[in-house]
Amino acid sequence: MAVLLYNMFNKIITEDSINKVKIAILNSSRIVIVTHVFPDGDAIGSSLALYHFLIKLNKSVNVIVPNNFPVFLEWMNGAKNIIIGNKEEFIAHKFIQLADLIFCLDFNNFQRIKQLHFYIQQSKAKKILIDHHPLLEHICDIIISYPTVSSTSELVFILIHQIGMSRYIDRNFAECIYTGMMTDTGAFTYNSNKVQIYFTIKELLKEGINKDVIYDNVYNNYSESRIRLQGYILYKKMKIIWEYRTSLITLSNEEQQKFSLKNGDTEGLVNIPLSIKKIIFSVFIREADDCVKISFRSKGKFPTNKFAFEVFNGGGHSNASGGEFNGRIEDAAILVEKMLPTYRHLLTN
Ligand code: 5GP
Ligand code: MN
Repeated sequence: MAVLLYNMFNKIITEDSINKVKIAILNSSRIVIVTHVFPDGDAIGSSLALYHFLIKLNKSVNVIVPNNFPVFLEWMNGAKNIIIGNKEEFIAHKFIQLADLIFCLDFNNFQRIKQLHFYIQQSKAKKILIDHHPLLEHICDIIISYPTVSSTSELVFILIHQIGMSRYIDRNFAECIYTGMMTDTGAFTYNSNKVQIYFTIKELLKEGINKDVIYDNVYNNYSESRIRLQGYILYKKMKIIWEYRTSLITLSNEEQQKFSLKNGDTEGLVNIPLSIKKIIFSVFIREADDCVKISFRSKGKFPTNKFAFEVFNGGGHSNASGGEFNGRIEDAAILVEKMLPTYRHLLTN
């Protein structure tokens, strides 16, 4: 009965796509999984879950990311084997060259994989996209794109279920899927009202995951300096622009060095100002290695991805998006403030 209900809720991927993916997997032996720059819990979760599944099918599999992932995801099984593109470019290139199948997870625009983009586009391998961002371009041979699904990880779970290979899933796989589902919904506090999410979690629990431990690993694993940085930012750096119900935070390289920040230490800071009554738009701007990185979050209907796209050529989801700026961090902040009046109708009612 449970299986029957599960099938009813989750058969969202078309039969045509399912058949094509099945054939592509069966006909391949060397598989590469690639995900977006500044990989988050969903990017790493979906990639490692698929990795565990494909290993069980005796495939040779490599997960490649454009740059490093947060320290709080290092506990995940398989994380040690991830190839970091900007540190191991030669190896990344070699595996992409040798691959006969490439999965592109949690992005749908090749700019999102930085330097890996050139190698992926040169490759003759079949390419499968699995993603939940609004789709702009058909960049792969097979497209599994469902923006209504709250995480790519859940989509990977649904895919494996629909291709009829759920017998190959195990606890490692389930832990990775849960991590991605949890991090893309703020531990099921937003974008998380679909009933199918909880049917999926039920299946994951049956594989033996400990969801409380996973929460602890991800959210209670910060360094002392990260928590001190949080205090500093909220006390000294958060600018509230009440007229536009907006919060704006900037964080320079110098400030990051002062707090000896590690990879991922700034994740989640952008969400905090949304807990202020009446603030509906939060912007967090920080200096990264080769650009200024901007994160946007909103409560309710304000479409941050529209702002991200129109002002910074970025993208993402309505309530969570991002972009990059080539220039001084101060100028990125000035640009945000200058553009707010253009969105007055969306920010003030
Ligand atoms: P974050 O602020 O956590 O880096 O990203 C939030 C969301 O926006 C994620 O879904 C991520 O994929 C998307 N995103 C972040 N930065 C960019 C960007 O520069 N371009 C696009 N298209 N999407 C982005
Ligand atoms: Mn995602």
